[in-house]
Amino acid sequence: MDTKRIHVNESYYKEEVFKLGKILREGGLVAFPTETVYGLGGNALDADAAKKIYAAKGRPSDNPLIVHVSGRDEVEKYVEHVGSIENKLMEKFWPGPLTIVFPKKDIIPKETSGGGLDTVALRCPQNAATRALIKAAGVPLAGPSANISGRPSPTTADDVLHDMNGRISAVVDDGPCNIGLESTIIGVENGEIVVYRPGGITLEMLQEIGPARMDSNLIVDTGHPKAPGMKYRHYAPKAPLTVYTGDRDSAAAKILEKVHEGDVSKIGFFVSEETAKMLPEDAICYIWGKREDKESFAHNLFTGLLYFNEQPVEQIYGEGTDQAGIGRAIMNRLKKASGGHIVVEEKET
Ligand code: AMP
Ligand code: MG
Repeated sequence: MDTKRIHVNESYYKEEVFKLGKILREGGLVAFPTETVYGLGGNALDADAAKKIYAAKGRPSDNPLIVHVSGRDEVEKYVEHVGSIENKLMEKFWPGPLTIVFPKKDIIPKETSGGGLDTVALRCPQNAATRALIKAAGVPLAGPSANISGRPSPTTADDVLHDMNGRISAVVDDGPCNIGLESTIIGVENGEIVVYRPGGITLEMLQEIGPARMDSNLIVDTGHPKAPGMKYRHYAPKAPLTVYTGDRDSAAAKILEKVHEGDVSKIGFFVSEETAKMLPEDAICYIWGKREDKESFAHNLFTGLLYFNEQPVEQIYGEGTDQAGIGRAIMNRLKKASGGHIVVEEKET
């Protein structure tokens, strides 16, 4: 199968979207853009389509799929009950990077919800072309990130084709994703918003709606968080990654020391602009943005990790950020990408 690239260009896309919708409705796979990362779309009501998604990604089938809807009005078709907090959250953050876990109706097959779960995770993406695609399909779309399981998530159509060429019918290309990190996943437990996966909608933003906290399993890292996918090794670049964080100057100093510790031509540096300026000119370096600019860090995180896969590096040293706002989601992904190799530096006295 040749994977077609369909550019989102109004006149052209308007015709294509119906063909793509038909492919999806009939069980085929089409990757789509969202504000977070590219999704690998398949008919969420079709158990065989779900199986195809797991096969294309090489993903363990106990790891449930997020189901994408084109609007708030579709939710009751797929879920048993919508509470008042969930309603407020949808009103405030949809369309947007917030995935909400609901008790599911039987119309969602168990294959879509990872085998054993009686819940379904729903999200309504911002991308207009993708919402048009869901409407054209006439069914909700299961859409995990469109990468081979374990690798960094794709934030461009090129990233998607790198992993999925020949495995899916088409990719809808709408340029790079804005946020670059996957959606925040939450559930409401006893009137409280619980974050199962941190993302673009931050804990601080959720707390404006009502009481909200991180899932305790995410904090103590027991390996069994409520979003089952979070227990798997994820986002890993080919070369091992170590991330320095904590006091900024001390973390930068630690990274700069690495220049003298080994063969610098085999080291990748994933750092802020400020730190990059202090590195030798020929160092293999990917700048995630200015130190204060966490949005830029989130946007460039997966692109940066994928960049090093194309470089002759044997070790990557990264500079982290603090936990405020989207920093929590960034550090969550870096922790997984580095296999837990996060070094917290203290301020030098
Ligand atoms: P990805 O498909 O790579 O964006 O990852 C989707 C994430 O959503 C995984 O971590 C899943 O475990 C999680 N997820 C999907 N459905 C549910 C659900 N019903 N309850 C909890 N987490 C879910
Ligand atoms: Mg993923």
